[in-house]
Amino acid sequence: MTIFNLGSINADLVYRVPHLPGPGETLASTSLSRGLGGKGANMSVAAARAGARCVHIGAVGEDGRWAIERLTEYGVDTRHIRVGSEPTGHAVIAVDDAGENSILLYPGANCALSEPDISKALSEATAEDLFICQNETNLQAEAARMASGRGMRVAYAAAPFSAAAVMAVLPLLDLLVLNEVEAAQLAEATGHSPEHLPVRDAVVTLGSKGCRWHNTDSGDTQAFPAIKVAPVDTTGAGDTFTGYLIAGLDRGMPMAQAIGLATKAAALMVTRMGTADVIPDLKDVQDMRS
Ligand code: ATP
Repeated sequence: MTIFNLGSINADLVYRVPHLPGPGETLASTSLSRGLGGKGANMSVAAARAGARCVHIGAVGEDGRWAIERLTEYGVDTRHIRVGSEPTGHAVIAVDDAGENSILLYPGANCALSEPDISKALSEATAEDLFICQNETNLQAEAARMASGRGMRVAYAAAPFSAAAVMAVLPLLDLLVLNEVEAAQLAEATGHSPEHLPVRDAVVTLGSKGCRWHNTDSGDTQAFPAIKVAPVDTTGAGDTFTGYLIAGLDRGMPMAQAIGLATKAAALMVTRMGTADVIPDLKDVQDMRS
């Protein structure tokens, strides 16, 4: 079975600075590093590292061919990533000596996808396959509708949070994944906690406190504690969690087992510095003691 992920691909440009620049200030950066990022790309890499076949649906500009090469190297199927005229999405991340950051996000090609791009990719999918998207591209609801129409299971990570985007996809979802802050924002927008929404499975991640899973059919909510680790960098923990979760489900694991796998992968991820490039592979996750 295959995961089809409609998702963002970003160049993460990380500039080290003595302090974060204020309004009107010009500041020299002491170093620059470029890494692969974007919630979509991170989830595709996590799913592929977990052993799933993952087709990424997305777009970059001519300046983003390196990102496609890197995703391919990490085992992601990149045939449906279009190279278009919009520049590749990127995040300009300033990190100061205290580890504080400020981030400027330019969506670029990520928001220039067309319905034919998506329908062409999904024409390869069967009802056994799983579709996922997040909020860093355009056309999530249209794509979710196409996937649902093909009988695919539809998963969605509600990040970055947008009430309008969540409302548009909500009726189409089998699985909703969101963090604590997004759950609170959703409750404010809808008047309902994730447990009271018409979605079969809702998983709320709680950082170092783990996560909780609610299943509407049984009405049960289960808590899963996080694994105790010494965190180094929590960036990408949520994306690693979601990528591993859907890879487990795609492999036919029951939800509780897939959450257990995702919890281990995310814990290992927070012990590493970086994003897509350092997402752990299945062997490292399985070898991890919990
Ligand atoms: P991010 O935006 O940083 O990628 P997020 O806010 O989407 O993350 P979190 O709820 O912070 O998601 O984390 C996702 C999962 O990662 C948690 O459910 C947990 O299993 C794991 N995790 C996060 N932080 C820690 C930690 N400090 N120790 C162990 N596991 C963690």
